[in-house]
Amino acid sequence: MRATQIKREGNELLVVWDDGHRSHYGLEYLRQECPCASCKGEVIFGKVYAPPKLPMFTPGMNELVALTPVGSYGVQAAWKDGHDTGIYSWAYLRSICTCEECKAKYAAKEAL
Ligand SMILES: [Zn+2]
Ligand SMILES: [Zn+2]
Repeated sequence: MRATQIKREGNELLVVWDDGHRSHYGLEYLRQECPCASCKGEVIFGKVYAPPKLPMFTPGMNELVALTPVGSYGVQAAWKDGHDTGIYSWAYLRSICTCEECKAKYAAKEAL
């Protein structure tokens, strides 16, 4: 699974996948789902440690500055507030797709 096209559309990111699926992500949503340890917490010995409390809003935090490809693994997002440690693997990015089809699919997976 990988993206064949990533396009910025206003406040959204459009990702076209190699299976033809199209995902839309609001930039604010993408930032909320940032997979880095300081946003999502760290898993140590199987236990999830919550990240330190971050301010609710920092100026520019939902403004995407750059998306840098990381080999064939995924993309790294850089945000205007200087946060750039989040690397979205293709699998992760696909799993947070907001369409009904994917939501149903990945929710079912989590329940297993
Ligand atoms: Zn982060
Ligand atoms: Zn989807």
